Amino acid sequence: MTAQEASAWKTAFKMVRIGLPPPIVHAATGLCRNRLRDLYRYVHGKSAPQGRMSEYAYRRLRTKDQRIEGLIFFKTYYNLGGDRIFQTLDHDLTVDAYLAYRNVAVQEIDAITAWYIARDLRGGVLSLKLCQTCGEKYLYDPRSEMMAKCPVCGE
Ligand SMILES: [Zn+2]
Repeated sequence: MTAQEASAWKTAFKMVRIGLPPPIVHAATGLCRNRLRDLYRYVHGKSAPQGRMSEYAYRRLRTKDQRIEGLIFFKTYYNLGGDRIFQTLDHDLTVDAYLAYRNVAVQEIDAITAWYIARDLRGGVLSLKLCQTCGEKYLYDPRSEMMAKCPVCGE
């Protein structure tokens, strides 16, 4: 195994451990899907869930509580990564941010949602909007009608 492969497996293991499914881990690391499915089964004691997943953060942030949790994850992630989170998707950093977020989460969003938030922020699909009423910044995707409102004050 090359050093690069070893590093990819280390990242893959961290990602699988927080619950990210093989397709996401494969996209991130380029490692063999079958071996990632085996890894998932080994770590979780059951097969990875099958079927299509919502592929954008906004589709997974449907309720006000989820949007507030998404914001808490964002703040944790931004504290660790700073402005570079808008340019790059660092998988290890995303995992570290998710683990840190779980310590302060109230109604935890899952790792898949957190990963999509990180990816959509990098792509600029998800952005931050400043609430004119309460002054909080919140996550905004123009495709979500619900996200046009601030989840903190509801305005
Ligand atoms: Zn507000």
